[in-house]
This record gives sequence, C-alpha cells and structure tokens, in this order.
Amino acid sequence: MDSSHIALLKTCTHYFLHFVFPLFIAWVFYRENWKKVYLILLATMLVDLDHLFANPIFDPNRGSIGFHFLHSYYAIAVYFLMLFFKGNIRIIGVGLLFHMLTDFQDFYFWSH
Ligand SMILES: [Zn+2]
Repeated sequence: MDSSHIALLKTCTHYFLHFVFPLFIAWVFYRENWKKVYLILLATMLVDLDHLFANPIFDPNRGSIGFHFLHSYYAIAVYFLMLFFKGNIRIIGVGLLFHMLTDFQDFYFWSH
C-alpha cells in the first residue's frame, strides 16, 4: 500500500472507533437505553477540547496521550476509577478510556 492509502485507512479507522464502536458498546451492554448511552459516549469526545490549550493546537507528529492534560496518565487513572462507580459515571469512564485507546492507536499503531 502506498502512503495515501494508509492515510485513508487511518482516517477511516479513527472515525469508525469514534462513531461506530460506541454504538456497538451501547447496543451490546445497554440495550434498554442505548440512545442515551451512545450520546454519553459521543460526549466524551469533548476531552479533546484540551488540545485548544496546546501550541500548536494540532500536530500530526505529536501523540495526545501523556501530552494534553485530559489525556495525561493522571487523567487516565481517574477515568479508570470511574469504572467503579455506577450509572452514568461508569459510562463516561468507559467512553473516556475508549477515547484514549482511539488516540493511542491513532498515534502508535500507524507508522508515520
Ligand atoms: Zn483525544
């Protein structure tokens, strides 16, 4: 594969993980109220707002994990603790951890 195909595949994987996979989680684990859960999972994308405090805001050669404050290892530890709560807090924790995983694979899995 040439690099433009890899870039396309990377973009597809990113959006798949951001939009389709949360739908899958919501449908499998919270079928009674999957719509609400899906919206909560999508809302966890707001943690990317911490990028606005970085300079430059977007740098393709920089991984988010461990750099931005809502993507730091301390923040990830907090998200992990959220799994021990019940209800919405746990769902948010799942969404946030999954977001970190998405960002992580985005940066480390693809050669660049
Ligand atoms: Zn992110």
